[in-house]
Amino acid sequence: MSTPRYKRILLKLSGEVLMGEGGLAIDPAVTARVAGEIADARGAGHELCVVVGGGNIFRGLSAAAKGIERATADYMGMLATVMNALAVQNALEQIGVETRVQSAIPMASVCEPFIRRRAERHLAKGRVVIFAAGVGSPFFTTDSGAALRAAEMKCDALFKGTSVDGVYDADPKKVATATRYETVTYDSVLSQNLKVMDASAIALCRDNDIPIVVFNIRDHGNLAAVLRGEGVSTTVTN
Ligand code: UDP
Repeated sequence: MSTPRYKRILLKLSGEVLMGEGGLAIDPAVTARVAGEIADARGAGHELCVVVGGGNIFRGLSAAAKGIERATADYMGMLATVMNALAVQNALEQIGVETRVQSAIPMASVCEPFIRRRAERHLAKGRVVIFAAGVGSPFFTTDSGAALRAAEMKCDALFKGTSVDGVYDADPKKVATATRYETVTYDSVLSQNLKVMDASAIALCRDNDIPIVVFNIRDHGNLAAVLRGEGVSTTVTN
């Protein structure tokens, strides 16, 4: 097998990606489909780190607006990401993919703590490593957690799985003439406030030269296709 362009990737999934039509926060059928996409990428020879958000269950900022202290709300949000990580782990192991969950908030009876060298060993053994609890501190997001882990794990790219097929110059749901970028620079994303990831995550990727590939995870087979250099996506780069 030839070496793929992006051998080691970090896949960032928003919590909402696990939601189904029926309003279930974690829909087992949807989660199984997402796991299938990850398994296909693994099968094609990629090393996979995964960061899952928690927005389908709990968002610190929204809860803080309703009166919960911000830091406490953020810790609750981080716990939500651990639930999602376990759901993705379960779905992957049901289809025979070995995984480990590592949490930025130690939770000894539930999963491993984040230990970079240990994560390296897991990847070397072909396991998918799922990083939970973001960076482990309030006032951050899982986008920042994804950028941080991508840098620490020396990932070749950060793949951001969303429900749109890339980055547009305007909101494609509101503006009929909105055009998708094939590539766009980190600085344009920041200066035009394009909706990719939060600013600290973009800056971290820029400073560490990690391309961000934005693609639609809901399109069946799209992750593997984009990894092959096919499929529809936008790459954010220097
Ligand atoms: N969070 C946090 N620190 C982190 C990562 C997450 O405080 O490093 C909290 C924050 O409250 C956030 C919630 O966890 O709203 C869920 O994560 P996020 O909103 O990033 O999830 P996503 O939008 O990707 O589903």
